[in-house]
Amino acid sequence: MAKRKASATALALTSATLVDFAPARLRRATVIVEAGQIAALAAPSDPLPAGAETLDCAGLLLLPGFVCAHTHLYSTLARGMPPPREPPATFTQILERVWWKLDRALDAETIELSALVGALEAARAGTTTLVDHHASPGCLDGSLDRVAGALEQVGLRGVLCYEASDRNGQDEGRAGARENDRFLTKLAKEPRPLLRGLVGAHAAFTLSDATAELLADLAMRHKSGIHIHLAEDAIDAHKNGLSTVSWLSERGLLGPRALLAHAVHVSDEDAAKIREAGAHVVHNPRSNANNAVGYARPSRFGDRLLVGTDGIGADMRKETRAAFFAARDHHDPLDAPAALARNRAWAAWQFNRSFAIEPGAAADLIALDYRSPTPLDESNLAGHLLFGLPEAEVRHVLVEGRLVLKAGRHPTLDEAAIYARAREAARRLWSRL
Ligand SMILES: [Zn+2]
Repeated sequence: MAKRKASATALALTSATLVDFAPARLRRATVIVEAGQIAALAAPSDPLPAGAETLDCAGLLLLPGFVCAHTHLYSTLARGMPPPREPPATFTQILERVWWKLDRALDAETIELSALVGALEAARAGTTTLVDHHASPGCLDGSLDRVAGALEQVGLRGVLCYEASDRNGQDEGRAGARENDRFLTKLAKEPRPLLRGLVGAHAAFTLSDATAELLADLAMRHKSGIHIHLAEDAIDAHKNGLSTVSWLSERGLLGPRALLAHAVHVSDEDAAKIREAGAHVVHNPRSNANNAVGYARPSRFGDRLLVGTDGIGADMRKETRAAFFAARDHHDPLDAPAALARNRAWAAWQFNRSFAIEPGAAADLIALDYRSPTPLDESNLAGHLLFGLPEAEVRHVLVEGRLVLKAGRHPTLDEAAIYARAREAARRLWSRL
């Protein structure tokens, strides 16, 4: 290694086994992190930069952090929530009796705590970037700043939007559009290294043509894309006599920047249309199974397919395994690990930087304590990812060079106090439903 200038800020992750899935690569090295970036990869026997702090990673696997391409941090406080008095039988009833009641009851405190706890749990799962789809109609203006603030407190990356919807009237649809506009304008004026924005919309079936036009205009003005649920259930397969995919396309919302969650009820013809437009589809297998909405046959979306959790935590190893099992069960030739790797490429495009383990890349890294009973090499990484790595403990997590998990704990936040506050707030939130 070349002789390096003394720096008090360098952090050396020593003697780790570096693992990358895209393309498959396994190496032993010490990773030198400086100013948020990977400054160098050194041989384990090389001298460290003078003054560098060290984090012993011997015996640990070091991977790029995972990216969750679709989630709802606002649903964190729904865990264990009492079920509605009348059990929902259809997808619409699930929305009306559970999620639309919950999001309307959110206030400033519960928005922030949901995001804070959700981000801490994401870090513990090794997820360093969250693509969030937020809704809180009872506390709408400024809500994205609250989510952003929580992510920055934990130290995770976020790609945020507000899911505009006319389900409670067009005034609220316009307010949702304004919140996206406000947040994107703010980021353009005062860029934040860990934050990006998209133009959010709930789904075509809760949008008027007027609000959709407003959102298309915003996406164009901000050179951004729409983040929307697409055909999660058959109820959202058509709009105004068109397939929903054609309806989006006619409104100029189906370009390469579009992020379409679910795409379960789309025809093969429309799947081809999505691929040709260069839009991305986010597959959320656990959520689809939980809501019994059907199987998306995600292999149809080829190299435009990403993976998300739709609010069921942020553990991308478990979600990828669920995608793999569902595909096997449906004889769908999906390459689930490849879809997970694509999440990172999508995030790299959003943040305009590399997230690979290479000099110059952002230091978004996770260290896993993985004991394998079988040889681990470049030829069988996918097998380990699906059948062993989901159980490996996440020991350390860095985002932009900052430790957000050290030996399994957040280095500065009082997690026990935050969880205690969350439990109290959840009780109050549930009582308002
Ligand atoms: Zn969703």
